[in-house]
Amino acid sequence: MKDIPVAVVGSGMSGSAVAAELARGGVPAVVLEAGPDSGRSHVAAKPDSAGLADPGVDADFEPFFASASGPHYDRRCGLRRRVGGRSLYWRGICLPIEPYALADWPAAVRERLGEPDGTGLYGQVGEELERWTGRALLTPLDERESALLDTVRGRGYGDATVTPRAVRVLGDDPRGESLWEAYSPVGGVPAAFVRDRWPVQDLVPAPDGTVEVRATGGAESIRARAVVLCAGTVHNARLLTRAGRRAGVAVPDTFAVVDHLVRGWVAAVPGDGPVDASVLAVRDAGARSNVMVETTGTNGARLLDVWAMGEQRPTSASQFGFDEEGRAHYTAGHSADDREVLGHQRELLRALADALGVAGGADLAAAEDWLDFDTAVARAQRSPGRAVPYGCPLGSLDHEACSLPLGGPVVEGTGRVRDLGPVYVAGPSVFPRAGAANPSLTTLALSRYVVENVLREL
Ligand SMILES: Cc1cc2nc3c(=O)[nH]c(=O)nc-3n(C[C@H](O)[C@H](O)[C@H](O)COP(=O)(O)OP(=O)(O)OC[C@H]3O[C@@H](n4cnc5c(N)ncnc54)[C@H](O)[C@@H]3O)c2cc1C
Repeated sequence: MKDIPVAVVGSGMSGSAVAAELARGGVPAVVLEAGPDSGRSHVAAKPDSAGLADPGVDADFEPFFASASGPHYDRRCGLRRRVGGRSLYWRGICLPIEPYALADWPAAVRERLGEPDGTGLYGQVGEELERWTGRALLTPLDERESALLDTVRGRGYGDATVTPRAVRVLGDDPRGESLWEAYSPVGGVPAAFVRDRWPVQDLVPAPDGTVEVRATGGAESIRARAVVLCAGTVHNARLLTRAGRRAGVAVPDTFAVVDHLVRGWVAAVPGDGPVDASVLAVRDAGARSNVMVETTGTNGARLLDVWAMGEQRPTSASQFGFDEEGRAHYTAGHSADDREVLGHQRELLRALADALGVAGGADLAAAEDWLDFDTAVARAQRSPGRAVPYGCPLGSLDHEACSLPLGGPVVEGTGRVRDLGPVYVAGPSVFPRAGAANPSLTTLALSRYVVENVLREL
């Protein structure tokens, strides 16, 4: 059996950030990734990239729940099993979790994260992202984004900013589609760390304080002085359920899971090509929602896409677990609290339709029929200038989180699993609450926090 100081399970957003931080500290590690190494470039950096993020055409896509029947967490919701994971698919939107949600996090973690413009981990990650992009994240990407910002501000949303995105624009492909890439921490992971096609099956704590990491498919096991689980919100819980049951440690029968609550509208607007611009128009703590105004395009037409993203709190309305054979089961639906957030979103969306001079705002407030995005786009193109509402099922945002909260029954405030040897967890799965913000800025910052604790105890 090979001995190694730290084994990281999963090479996506959190696993790569953990491994890159270990490498920066000169600590040898292995990153065990279930999927293949299919290159490290972002999907949107490739010519003709429009459909590449579509799970339906991605050979590396794997649904979270084999039994998925929808409407929530259906078979289009899942992992990208490859080196880099979903850090090679994300849109780069970087927002810190709002104070109202961080208030429920352990105080020590909150303090270490600090303020986005401070010297804590949020600030450190922000600086790294600005170094990588070569610009301040609140600077418009180009003059078209600048123009959209001016429009939104001029229509009564004076506090609007551009949506902070850790992206670099690479130009247009031959079809006129914009090519870009978002930051991925996988760029900082030494190639020698990575073992691809290494699906971790089990973790077995040894009496000498190490952990044996076993693979599916017969690869030689690895003995590590610390293991950091970064396999995603569902798969981290799967691995811990199995390891806990084997070790006789109490593990919950069910784990809460949250995604973001998203409602929006699209309208076909004058202009004849895609413009990729995004403005953060509203940050509403009372509604626990942010609202983005974006211009985008499809089939040569230009669309205004205005969407609200709100916090889902962990409740028994959305949860999953594993039977004795390890088969996953889940229930997912909206809680009373979710419905309240969605109600606030209708009002925010209606107000933006009115302010932007798009017809149909009044219908939005009454709409029961929230279409899927593609149907809404098709309808919007048939009725230019009119807002057509759409809604996103839970699971489809790829923001699943909160199954193993820091300071909760399974994971300590440091990220270490209770009663199971030196096993830690990182990623959105350890968020106690997700707020309305996209998760990845916090995922990157928290990965550093977990590494600090691993090294302290190694
Ligand atoms: C199209 C898209 C757009 C997005 N846009 C944004 C955005 O703008 N802003 C934002 O903040 N977030 C965004 N996200 C979400 C963000 O990408 C995820 O929150 C983030 O990647 C989750 O990180 P993770 O490390 O938990 O999981 P992942 O990045 O999914 O990584 C998990 C890795 O673990 C591996 N794995 C799983 N099980 C095992 C096992 N047993 N053994 C070994 N390896 C295993 C998987 O193969 C995978 O590589 C977006 C996601 C997508 C798909």
